[in-house]
Amino acid sequence: MGDIWKSTAIITGASSGVGLYGAKALAAKGWYVVMACRDVVKGAKAAQDLQIPEENYTVMEIDLASLDSVRQFVKTFRDRGRSLEALVCNAAVYLPLQKEPLRSPDGYELSVATNHLGHFLLCNLMLDDLRRSPVPTKRLVILGTVTANSKELGGKIPIPAPPDLGDLQGFEAGFKEPIAMINGKKFKSGKAYKDSKLCNMLTARELHRRYHNTTGIVVSSIYPGCVADTPLFRNHFSLFRTIFPWFQKNITKGYVTQELAGERLAEVVADRNYKQSGVHWSWGNRQQEGREAFVQELSAEGSDDAKAKKMWELSEKLVGLA
Ligand code: NAP
Repeated sequence: MGDIWKSTAIITGASSGVGLYGAKALAAKGWYVVMACRDVVKGAKAAQDLQIPEENYTVMEIDLASLDSVRQFVKTFRDRGRSLEALVCNAAVYLPLQKEPLRSPDGYELSVATNHLGHFLLCNLMLDDLRRSPVPTKRLVILGTVTANSKELGGKIPIPAPPDLGDLQGFEAGFKEPIAMINGKKFKSGKAYKDSKLCNMLTARELHRRYHNTTGIVVSSIYPGCVADTPLFRNHFSLFRTIFPWFQKNITKGYVTQELAGERLAEVVADRNYKQSGVHWSWGNRQQEGREAFVQELSAEGSDDAKAKKMWELSEKLVGLA
């Protein structure tokens, strides 16, 4: 523990992209950042390369695809004796070219296991840590995305293979081989990512509904803009990785630098303007200089409280909390 007390934030997936730049921006605001990474050597190098001051961060191991690893992370964090003022669920994998599902150590489809189930368990376990912090303003922020929220695009632009959790038949049936999709239907890799991000936004809403009034924890989800050149797209065709940033810069005007996305994330974690709980923050899809955040409505499925409740209860079973 440093000499000067600093608010502490955990950011998952802080070894690159939005999480890394979010860690940098939060450290610049005087926070102490626990960079929760699956590759701690990579995380440490990334922090050094960005010259995040050493006294403002530590790197800790977590593999969100593994429920055991998530539990071990929580234990190690507690053993270190820090209080927790913010948890940021940012890590994700996107595997759009995967023809067959990859499996997590627990046997679940890998993108839903990593992006949703690992974070779901982490949030549930760390609620107690947030609750115990003596600081009155505590935040839990989860990264959502535009392709899992048709309302962000005015509902007018069709999203290929849009998210659809159905009646969560796949979760209900245990979500293990041969089941690979939450709705129990045929595996579609890009859709699995969007389903997982929809679960992220539903989790934020349900966390707010269940715990905001009793704990005061401010829960929100965020879409930081299209950060088209992060390694998130590393598993896509190389041509896509060349064209996508250009397209976002010049045609949709949705492109946001990793630095700006990180600053936006840090604002939602630390600034008083973002103390509203149970909302989804966005800066819109056409970027303009000095654009301010606003509360973005979610799609019909993303606003469906009955579905959020069912998703929550089935996720509890899948991660061993029920
Ligand atoms: P990124 O650069 O690929 O960062 C993803 C991070 O997640 C990396 O640090 C990665 O670690 C980590 N990660 C992956 N699997 C993990 C696991 N099993 N356990 C622990 N960490 C794991 O992607 P990004 O674009 O910054 O995305 C960050 C978040 O923003 C995601 O939630 C994404 O859905 C969201 N988002 C992104 C965009 C965009 O345009 N890029 C737009 C909207 C929302 P490694 O370094 O070890 O791979």
